[in-house]
Amino acid sequence: MTTKGRKIDGQRTGPEPRLESDAGSTPQQPTAGSDRGRRQSDTFELYDLRVEVAADGSGKPMVCNHPVGAFFELRGEELHFPPGQTFPIYPLAAILPLLPAKQRLTDPNDWMTTDTEIACPDPHCGGIFRIRRIGKRTFRHGDVTVVPLHAQEEAP
Ligand SMILES: [Zn+2]
Repeated sequence: MTTKGRKIDGQRTGPEPRLESDAGSTPQQPTAGSDRGRRQSDTFELYDLRVEVAADGSGKPMVCNHPVGAFFELRGEELHFPPGQTFPIYPLAAILPLLPAKQRLTDPNDWMTTDTEIACPDPHCGGIFRIRRIGKRTFRHGDVTVVPLHAQEEAP
């Protein structure tokens, strides 16, 4: 796979949600008290993610255009790339399905919590992609959807 990735600009279209700085923290379940508070205020939390390229240790070459140390971040639904950095679409396609789950609070026993590496889909490429939770961001339900918060409860 030698296709060069096309730069994707991380444009923000919505309000800037609040970021809590807790880089390196482990996943936590909300307490009953904070859960009650969240229900009243319509807020919810998602992790910010950083996806960074590493070598898989096999000695295989880095076939695709994703050098070791290249990274991008996911904040809410927006991908952010360092200025001038590109990322190939085929590895991105392999990574994307995992990101929404990694953004959310997960059970400590869930493999989605413990497993952090994704292999490059090119079998000849020695790249892997490490996903780290780098912080938590608070969103308001009303800022990210037009669906009413309790729509399912109100349905007949
Ligand atoms: Zn690759």
